[in-house]
Amino acid sequence: MSLASVSRMEAKLLLSTYERQPILFVRGRGVYLWDSRGQRYLDFLSGIGVNALGHNHPAIQTVIKRQAGRLIHVSNLFFHEYQAELARLLTKISGLDRVFFCNSGTEAWEGALKLARAFAQTNNKNGGKPTPKTRILAMENSFHERTFGALATTGQPKYRAPFVPLVPGVSFVKFNDLDDLQRKFDSSVCAVCIETIQGEGGIRPVNREFLELASRLTKQSGALLLLDEIQCGLGRTGRHFAYQHYNVPPDVVTVAKPLACGLPLGAILTTERVASCMHPGMHGTTFGGGPLACAVAIEFLRAERLLLKHVRELGEYFHVALETLDKKHKSIQEVRGVGLMQAVELDSPELAKAVAKQLLQEGIIINRTHETVLRFLPPYVIQKKHVDQVVKALDTALRKHAESTHENRKDDRKKEKKSASPPRKEVYAHA
Ligand SMILES: *Cc1c(COP(=O)(O)O)cnc(C)c1O
Repeated sequence: MSLASVSRMEAKLLLSTYERQPILFVRGRGVYLWDSRGQRYLDFLSGIGVNALGHNHPAIQTVIKRQAGRLIHVSNLFFHEYQAELARLLTKISGLDRVFFCNSGTEAWEGALKLARAFAQTNNKNGGKPTPKTRILAMENSFHERTFGALATTGQPKYRAPFVPLVPGVSFVKFNDLDDLQRKFDSSVCAVCIETIQGEGGIRPVNREFLELASRLTKQSGALLLLDEIQCGLGRTGRHFAYQHYNVPPDVVTVAKPLACGLPLGAILTTERVASCMHPGMHGTTFGGGPLACAVAIEFLRAERLLLKHVRELGEYFHVALETLDKKHKSIQEVRGVGLMQAVELDSPELAKAVAKQLLQEGIIINRTHETVLRFLPPYVIQKKHVDQVVKALDTALRKHAESTHENRKDDRKKEKKSASPPRKEVYAHA
């Protein structure tokens, strides 16, 4: 099928939730993807941080083929061989004690929120009666996805507004603002929610002082520190978990994106103390943690461990190269990132759009998030030559587009006045 016929059918048959790029991908290998016309693309997004080992990694292919021929699904009513082993590996690298497996990031995050409420209800009894400890503090500019609980804790009004009322009891704290956190925290809070590095919100790491304060406040009052590492966890930053750069252990951490190399799998990791509030029937899933996805994840973790040093080295190489660009281009506002989670913030959405489009035309896949931010989430297996290619293309594209978008921006401002609210499609464009 051609791109034209697929996109025509989708336009008629699917909910129009995505603004897709006009490319039909048909196969991938390593750091490259090929489209239906046979053009090759260097993948510096890895399916939003999912294909961390690149495409069609031989070891992953082998495990999928072997396991698909044996057993794909049994439900959580029975044992299979891989959940225990995968949980052993995840607890070992995180320093946490127990795991719940599910199918996606948002599902992991929903479970983490439920853990916080259940833990508070079990542990805050005053003369036998539970004292109200149900409030959740989440961060402005955060992104935890779009199911109701996750949406309720996502600190971006554009995602929440069409669906109110959401899950009650959530207040938002200015990200990295110690005073605001201190002001909004009290004994009625059961959880503080933080992405260790905000991903969709533009690759913004949490400050050490802020994370330490969140840890101290939650510890003192019997609330939980929930870290969302669905994007930044599992080797992306050059450590198993981003919180390991800070030495601040969470009560609960969620992971998903790269865990099963493209098969759907998420996990909640927590301490023995927190886990003790969950009992049979309180939470569950039909598909989550099936044998195929878990077998693949075990293989992924084997590779991830061996790639951490490479991710740190290539991340540093990439970051330094981007900072060199920063010195050359006035349009670059800031370069941010850790390991292979990097971003370049530009001075206008139009420029960011033009640069991402130009790179795509040249066969390089990156992504624009949060309007003005170019986001890079390459596979962990990239080499320096791939970084060089991307940085060179960025340099050229920035030089080419900076002037013209500057000219156009004056006109755009006039246009904005005419139509105060941007079209919905634009507002919901994501990832
Ligand atoms: C992607 C992401 C999610 C949601 O994961 P899904 O698998 O899309 O449900 C949640 N939190 C963060 C930080 C993410 O990057």
